[in-house]
Amino acid sequence: AKSAGRATFAFYEASLNSAAVERLHLESALRHALERGEIEVYFQPKVDASGRACSVEALSRWVGSEFGAVSPATFIPIAEEVGLIEPITEFVLRTACSQAAQWHRAGFGPLAVAVNLSPRLFRSGAFVAQVALALADYGLPAECLELEITEGTLMDKGVDALEQLQGLKALGVRLAVDDFGTGYSSLAYLARFPLDILKIDKAFVSRATEGTREAILSRAVVTLGRDLGMRVVAEGVETEAQRELFASAGCHEFQGYLFARPLSASSADAWLAANTAA
Ligand code: C2E
Ligand code: CA
Ligand code: CA
Ligand code: CA
Repeated sequence: AKSAGRATFAFYEASLNSAAVERLHLESALRHALERGEIEVYFQPKVDASGRACSVEALSRWVGSEFGAVSPATFIPIAEEVGLIEPITEFVLRTACSQAAQWHRAGFGPLAVAVNLSPRLFRSGAFVAQVALALADYGLPAECLELEITEGTLMDKGVDALEQLQGLKALGVRLAVDDFGTGYSSLAYLARFPLDILKIDKAFVSRATEGTREAILSRAVVTLGRDLGMRVVAEGVETEAQRELFASAGCHEFQGYLFARPLSASSADAWLAANTAA
């Protein structure tokens, strides 16, 4: 038993080490990902009740030579920890603004583009100026840029999120609260922060059609957002039943595999051509 215990421990230690080593490899590969052009921006359409594209969400993708495709759920948290989230976000922001302006020129207007923000970005105080610069450089109207933030950003005690969100609002961009309905949801921030868009989390959307109580909650969340004057978006919509439930509750926009997966810029181009102006 003693030697078996030692063997188990040795095995455990070895696998711990390999996880740590793997993580270090990922980290150092990520450091070179941007300069090697391995980070790409995909775009997932959001449609209105009539099925027309009104906005696209920019979602980053990392396809490296060493690790292949790595999910943003894996590499974004690493980027946040090791200080790479600032350059990655700047790249995503500028690519998104440039692409949206290009789509406007191609006649797919007034299409908005949404970019995801990490809480960390609000620490330096330089972010508002970066957004202003990106809008100016690509000639994108401010109201066509949506910035998606999570509760984590609003609740981060270390930063004055309110001041910076007001700075962003002053530019004319629209602010969205992402993943609403999960986490420790303090409703108070809906009153305190200048938010324009409420995105209902996909975990919430997937449960919406499971029973009467879930349906009642879903309708109530849509009504809450609407009554606050916000635009309400259901994300992760995969079934017609989910779309129908949120549409009948008065939800403004829908995003999910039912309509389109995140697409490369050229695939999004083709999709938009088929789903915008008649
Ligand atoms: P998110 O902001 O909540 O983005 C929505 C995620 O749900 C995306 O995953 C999207 O592909 C996925 N999704 C959309 N529709 C459906 C559906 O119908 N069913 C299911 N099962 N999933 C759906 P993705 O692209 O893997 O991104 C994961 C998360 O990584 C994002 O969640 C966001 O938090 C983060 N992320 C991605 N790109 C960036 C970025 O550039 N910056 C930051 N800060 N975070 C990012
Ligand atoms: Ca998002
Ligand atoms: Ca989300
Ligand atoms: Ca999420």
